[in-house]
Amino acid sequence: MDEKTLRLSNTHADLVDRDRKHVLGWRYSPSIVFRAGKGVTLIDVDGNEYYDLTSGMMCLALGHGHPELVETIKEQAELFVHESSWYSNPWLIEFAELLASTLPGNLSVVNFTVTGSEANEVAMRMALGVTGAYDMVSVVRGLHGGSLAVESLTTVGGARRRHLGPLMIPSRANAIFPPFCYRCPVNLEYPQCDVACLRSSEELMEYVTSKNVAAIITETMLVAGGMIVPPPEWLPRLKRVAEDWGALLIVDEAQLAPGRTGKLWGFEHYDVVPDIVTFAKGMSAGFSICGAVTTPEIAEHAKGTVGIPWAGTYSGDPLPAAVAKKQLEIVLRDNLAQQAERLGEFLRNRLEELHKKYEVIGDVRGKGLYQMLDVVKSRESRAPDPVMAERIRHNALVEGLVLICVKNYLRICPPLIITQGDLDEVVGRLELAIQRAIEGHPEQLELTESGSLA
Ligand code: PMP
Repeated sequence: MDEKTLRLSNTHADLVDRDRKHVLGWRYSPSIVFRAGKGVTLIDVDGNEYYDLTSGMMCLALGHGHPELVETIKEQAELFVHESSWYSNPWLIEFAELLASTLPGNLSVVNFTVTGSEANEVAMRMALGVTGAYDMVSVVRGLHGGSLAVESLTTVGGARRRHLGPLMIPSRANAIFPPFCYRCPVNLEYPQCDVACLRSSEELMEYVTSKNVAAIITETMLVAGGMIVPPPEWLPRLKRVAEDWGALLIVDEAQLAPGRTGKLWGFEHYDVVPDIVTFAKGMSAGFSICGAVTTPEIAEHAKGTVGIPWAGTYSGDPLPAAVAKKQLEIVLRDNLAQQAERLGEFLRNRLEELHKKYEVIGDVRGKGLYQMLDVVKSRESRAPDPVMAERIRHNALVEGLVLICVKNYLRICPPLIITQGDLDEVVGRLELAIQRAIEGHPEQLELTESGSLA
């Protein structure tokens, strides 16, 4: 197969140059400037179309330009966009009520924020305020955001923490082994292991924390760290560990809710009720409305200490609240979680076919409409192959597939409104991309700005 490349128009190439000069940001190679989105499709400035298999930044459950959301945005833009955080608005109240109605237990009070990082920091503040303890214990390979306090809980490798030094808060411990069965941290096999990784983690907590543990924080599935889907007993047992240590369990649902995994909240796959749930990305509909949900008891107890309730300049603005509320209503009305489960099964089966056929696909992991290929040097060694993964991502882009690839993990995260026919087409194109990558295309690979991104 010949090398296939993207040919950019002069206008497009000029925009790429100007972007490079004046905007500081990560850019995959080849760099593309998009000008529109429609449903599951992105359109670049030359008019070329691509499948958006990242749902924006994992935000657009309903895809681009959903007509009902467009209507809400227009109406709200005319009516009320922004207000002081010292006051409320009906859309915010209704969104909070709707979120509460979808959550188990007594998780009914929302502290809104603008980013997922901020939501996790608010959750940390709540835990500090309630327990009077200081240590934050997190799971290795977890990601909780980029502001400095949550960066200290983030352990996905790469260069993101290099030179940050003591700017990251010291009172924390990345002490929990990931429940990563494909590359088991304690070198055992599930289920005979009886989740030994968690037993070893507790031992580690004993030694590396001050024993004043305020919270254990985890993603329901550790997405950026390798799409690690814990076995059924792991999360309930983690909750018990938290209880034994007098700590709260914070579950970060930024990547998963609403509906992506086949349940509205990813943690509903597990028999557990967290003390605090944080939401971001997917729940935001791309409008920067995130938050931490907890019980009235925790909210009340934390109130007045540690900066709770937290209110930034934009948290709880009427425009993002109205759009996010509308999106969640549509996800519930159209049973999109169920749809994600059904379509996810189809996608998974098609990806398993690629897994069987190509040695470079070491494993397929994920749930529902969030799946990932673990790209390896060989099936035997299971050694990560980020260069091959980046080659596949590059070729996939040329085939019209926008995918996210970090290290050797190639993720597929389409809007929940995608059809089975589209998924079939996507996997067909992905197979071509894999074949070209195995043949060594592209020969020149830009890795500094793409695959090494952490
Ligand atoms: N939690 C998780 C699980 C995430 O993946 C991310 C973002 N990648 C964040 C939190 C941080 O969200 P934000 O970028 O909105 O701060």
